[in-house]
Amino acid sequence: MTTEAETAQGMTIAARVVAELCGHGIQPNPHAFAVWHAHLTGSDAALSAALKNQLDQRLPITTELIEELHENHILSGRALRVAERSSRAIMMEIDGIVELIRLSLGSSSTYSTTLSNLLGDMVSTNDPLALKEIVSTLVKATEDTRSLNTQLEKGLRTARTEVDELRKVLEDTRVEALKDALTGISNRKHFEQALQAAIESAGSTRRPFSLLMVDIDHFKQFNDQHGHLTGDKVLRVVAQALREKFPARATVARYGGEEFAIILPDGDTMAGWVGAEAARQSILARELVKRSTGEKIGRITISVGVGTWKRSDTGLSLIARADAALLRAKRSGRNRTVTEDQVAESAVA
Ligand code: GH3
Ligand code: MG
Ligand code: MG
Repeated sequence: MTTEAETAQGMTIAARVVAELCGHGIQPNPHAFAVWHAHLTGSDAALSAALKNQLDQRLPITTELIEELHENHILSGRALRVAERSSRAIMMEIDGIVELIRLSLGSSSTYSTTLSNLLGDMVSTNDPLALKEIVSTLVKATEDTRSLNTQLEKGLRTARTEVDELRKVLEDTRVEALKDALTGISNRKHFEQALQAAIESAGSTRRPFSLLMVDIDHFKQFNDQHGHLTGDKVLRVVAQALREKFPARATVARYGGEEFAIILPDGDTMAGWVGAEAARQSILARELVKRSTGEKIGRITISVGVGTWKRSDTGLSLIARADAALLRAKRSGRNRTVTEDQVAESAVA
């Protein structure tokens, strides 16, 4: 129930949204309204952080930025709502099918009762007129049942098509929910599922796998210099470069912010190190150019920590060792790969 006070508060926020958007020279269209409303009500911390970053640096709020924020923050939340709606629609279709089956069973039992009554009547009479009457009632009951069955069959076919379509929407939404909205690679949730699966699989096959934690170097400085929007584009470039460098069976995920995590199956620490170095070199080799202006904006580098599965590992213990290796890579100058073995060796030395 919405109280008057809540309505008044909602209107005050709405008025502020419109005023602030106009203040930034942005038309308060539905996308802009949704983004700014989420920002003012604090319903999406990441969205507010991105806008705050832009405002703190006195960078302009552009329509392009608003659209990006809308796509990455507002739309991704909607995917879950679509899934919920589809599940509800499937349940309603199933209720409809159950009702059709109930009707069908009802009509068969009515038909068989009519049949047995008529048969009883046939046995007890020799009158040709009465027999004719019985036969015509029998034909009519058969016709009615057949026509009802045809209708039921049609209803079931339609319901089947609708359930198939809903199932497809649900499956697409499920895949979408495991993707990172900004970069299109796996998200943190998918990473966590894949890590659990990798640990279980390594436990039974005894074949190790590597976990690579990747962090972009001095990315805050990059954002400060070139703006959050260009920063977002760089995140996409890095994500795609990582995805291309590893085989399809590897999980390449955005772990959060400017950090990525890669699960590289079937390999020891050396394989992990080789993969990490290939990815690091490939990102280092790219000279970044601002597409809108053609301006060269230099290169970015990544640091990587490599951990390798041990029998006693949980997801958290493996992440902790890969993270420690990443920290070592940062502390020893960035733009490098450090393995957990190198951390352990220097601890002994
Ligand atoms: P280091 O080399 O030690 O990793 O330095 P850093 O500046 O990369 O690390 P720090 O943790 O200080 O800052 C991370 C920065 O990443 C700050 C934040 O603005 C930026 N960042 C996080 N998520 C996003 C995002 O979604 N888009 C953009 N453009 N920047 C992001
Ligand atoms: Mg970081
Ligand atoms: Mg960083």
